[in-house]
Amino acid sequence: MSPITNPALNALLAESLDGDGFVLAQVLLRHSTGVAFELRHVADSTTPAAQLRPVKLSELRNLAQFTVAGEFRPLKSAPTLVPGWRALAADPASLESALNQLYPGALVDWFAARHAVPPVTHYREFAGRQTGMYQVTATLDDRRVGEVIAATCAPTACLKRRLWTVEGMAVDPSATKSCIPCLEPCALFLDAARRAARRDSVLAVPPANALG
Ligand code: SF4
Repeated sequence: MSPITNPALNALLAESLDGDGFVLAQVLLRHSTGVAFELRHVADSTTPAAQLRPVKLSELRNLAQFTVAGEFRPLKSAPTLVPGWRALAADPASLESALNQLYPGALVDWFAARHAVPPVTHYREFAGRQTGMYQVTATLDDRRVGEVIAATCAPTACLKRRLWTVEGMAVDPSATKSCIPCLEPCALFLDAARRAARRDSVLAVPPANALG
C-alpha cells in the first residue's frame, strides 16, 4: 500500500474505526473484516450486513443526490441521506474518495477545524467580498442574518456545525450538529441571504401614494 500523504486522511485513520466506529454526520465508518473499511448509514449501525444493499464506491455520489422520496438534495449535509446501504473501501484512498462523494470537502474541513485557530470566515467578511447579485447580502443587519441562519442552518436542515457567525449570535453548540464544521457561509445560505436582502429593499420602498 502506498504511503498516505494526506494529513486529513491520516488524522481520520488515527481515530478509532474499530468497535462502534466513527460517525461523520450520517455515515458510520468502521474497520471491516476482509476489507479495509465499511461505510453505512448510522441508522443502520446494528443492521446485519446481509440486509443492507451493497453499493459500489462509484455509486455513492448518486446515492447522495436524492432523498428517500426521490427529491434532489442540494445540500449534501442535510440530514436526509438515504439509509439501507453498505459500501466497502479497500484502502485509505478509496475511503477518502467515498467520503468526498457523500460529504464533499468534509474531511479537509474536519481536519482544519482541529487546529487551534480554525480558518473561519465570519459573515461580515464573507458578505463584504461578494460582488454582482450577491453584493446586496452585505446590507442585511445582524438580526436579519440571524433569522436567515435560523431558517437555513437549523439542525433539521443541515448537520454541519456552524463556526462562523455575526455579532450577537453564538456558533452552533457541538451537541446539536455533527463533527463536520461549517467554516464559512455556503452557496445555499448566500442565496437565502440575497433573497432576504432583496425582500427587505422592496419593503423599504414607500408606496407611490405615500410620497406626497
Ligand atoms: S451555511 Fe453552513 S451550516 Fe448553514 S446551511 Fe450552509 S453548510 Fe449548513
